[in-house]
Amino acid sequence: MNVSQLARSIAESPTLKLNEEARLLKEKGEAVIHLGAGEPKNKAPINAILSSAAKLNTGDVKYTPTDGTPSLKKAIIRYTEENYDKMVAPENVIVSAGAKQSVYNLLYTILNPQEEVIILAPYWVSYPEMVRMCYGVPVIVTPEDGSFHPRMKDIEQKVSSYTKAIILNSPNNPSGIMYKEEFISEIIEFCERKGIYCIMDDIYHKLIFDGRKPISAYKHTKKDLENSRVLIVNGISKLYGMTGFRIGWTIAPKQLVEIMTNVQGQITTTTSVILQAAAEGALMGLQSIVDGLRLMIENNRNVMVQELQSFNGVKVTKPDGTFYCLPDFGAYNKNSLELSKFLLKKALVVTVPGKEFGMEGHLRLSYCGTIKEIKQGIERIKWALDPNSPNEIFIGERKLVRDWL
Ligand code: PMP
Repeated sequence: MNVSQLARSIAESPTLKLNEEARLLKEKGEAVIHLGAGEPKNKAPINAILSSAAKLNTGDVKYTPTDGTPSLKKAIIRYTEENYDKMVAPENVIVSAGAKQSVYNLLYTILNPQEEVIILAPYWVSYPEMVRMCYGVPVIVTPEDGSFHPRMKDIEQKVSSYTKAIILNSPNNPSGIMYKEEFISEIIEFCERKGIYCIMDDIYHKLIFDGRKPISAYKHTKKDLENSRVLIVNGISKLYGMTGFRIGWTIAPKQLVEIMTNVQGQITTTTSVILQAAAEGALMGLQSIVDGLRLMIENNRNVMVQELQSFNGVKVTKPDGTFYCLPDFGAYNKNSLELSKFLLKKALVVTVPGKEFGMEGHLRLSYCGTIKEIKQGIERIKWALDPNSPNEIFIGERKLVRDWL
């Protein structure tokens, strides 16, 4: 096939691939438990639905300004003021088709070929691929102490004259841990001193537990927005469980937003006016839905951690937020891809191999499903791996007997 070397080198999104595998198995009637998912099962907030339905009913469905409708941008400005304690102007905001496109547009806008982007492991699978798609070089920093929290000294060692940006995602997909405020402050100070962009992927910033409060990066920059190196990405996917609406945004200095708008204008023109109306509805509507979702997920987190703590040989770091955790299954199999495939085949449980996130030996487990799914999922994994667990299990209607341990 005659395709570009770059396109050929881009890996398939492992999470999207797993979603598809799980869907096909379910279609065949298999009792699959999906602990790989990155989306809660809630219905979209009613305000989002009404707002998008109202727009659709007008029949007036046209292009919007490339950087987003003025009214959605207004809602984002309000959100930023309330949640980041920062007043930004409409020219500082650009709406994209999901935070994924926001990150990609940002990278495309700032990177020259061969410039480096520091990515902290464990990391969201898409960052390294996106950097490569912009002809940049991903530079992975893995905490040497085996934890999920990077240290400044690990990062400083990897910074070179080619470093253009550092991406921070806290709370973190896939580990669920939230970076300490002092660390965020230190890294922003470092970036601004060195002239490096600090991309804050805040997509989970309000999905945090145990009474934690979201951290505003703006609190830690001494510069005004136009001269700051802090770039914020956020969206409605995780906050409101509205993954299918595909709305995200970036807050950045005006000059950068102007160029991002030119870039986006040549690619997607804009994102759908109906979906922008939905996002506006969610942002302007009752916010108790966010708390409701958070409390439900926090409860699920507690159940997941409890189940994993009773699992011999598995080491789990309690997540501070998100809907993921990244337990260490190295005692069972150091090859996470092999382990994940084994669990899908034998126990019909979808997990995501830690290798995809730069943490071999681990599995990412999601707890955004139901308590029943979490309990049964872990029970099945125990059955498949732990010789001390009962060797018979019911999966759906079928009784299975373990004959491999
Ligand atoms: N950043 C991170 C860390 C994510 O986990 C995701 C979604 N899995 C995104 C960005 C993209 O979100 P969106 O649905 O808004 O594109």
